[in-house]
Amino acid sequence: MEKLLSIKELSKNYLTKKQVICAVKDVSFDVNDEDFISIIGPSGCGKSTILSIIGNLEEKSKGKIIFKNNNIKIGYMFQEDALFPWLTVFENCILGLKIKKEDTKENITYVKSLLEKYGLSSFINSYPNELSGGMRQRVALIRTLSLRPDILLLDEAFSKLDYQTRIKVSNDVKRIIKDEGKTAIMVTHDIGEAIKMANKVIVLSKRPSVVKNIYEIKNIKDYDKYYDMLWKDLDYDE
Ligand code: ADP
Ligand code: MG
Repeated sequence: MEKLLSIKELSKNYLTKKQVICAVKDVSFDVNDEDFISIIGPSGCGKSTILSIIGNLEEKSKGKIIFKNNNIKIGYMFQEDALFPWLTVFENCILGLKIKKEDTKENITYVKSLLEKYGLSSFINSYPNELSGGMRQRVALIRTLSLRPDILLLDEAFSKLDYQTRIKVSNDVKRIIKDEGKTAIMVTHDIGEAIKMANKVIVLSKRPSVVKNIYEIKNIKDYDKYYDMLWKDLDYDE
């Protein structure tokens, strides 16, 4: 598979009035086309910082982020689905296109086709509060996809959902991203989610995050084996 993105020796220091916080230290990894990468690590280790730097929402202190070309587009999905309650499902989905003045016939047809394909066509005129948590997350994903990103960044996107919904939504999101041929980098602190969604899991240490291990998930039948290795890596006993 073709390489889309290389992260090389990425470091980030936050300067506060009182101190320098080293959040990320010499983190390197590659992202190939259609990879689904999970980044897992303890709370506060620097996961969101890494995603924010890749998404150009935060500046790096050191290192390189090399994109295959200048046309690589990035989409973001946050913890909260952040749908506007006063807009319908359809209006929420095309909001990004409107803001960017890309609400062409072709793009709107694309959004409608996604809504249909992923079981939301009878809800396009509904409001977010009429939907289940899982459906809202699907709407949020379609809104992100409307701008046709090459890489999706998911920052603990499911962590506010209850356990059952979370399993369902993470399966849906994985399927949609795969079906649409997208590449994803997902941050999570849930070991099971990290293994089930990804073909590659990057384990980070406690802050400042350094890469502790990178696992290729070759066969999901080895789930228990991966779970044990990740559990050990994450030092949950300490
Ligand atoms: P994670 O997403 O793994 O929980 P973060 O990347 O959000 O961790 O944060 C890593 C560390 O950097 C934490 O100690 C956090 O307090 C600190 N941090 C994050 N953002 C800022 C900021 N804007 N200014 C100062 N410190 C920050
Ligand atoms: Mg975070």
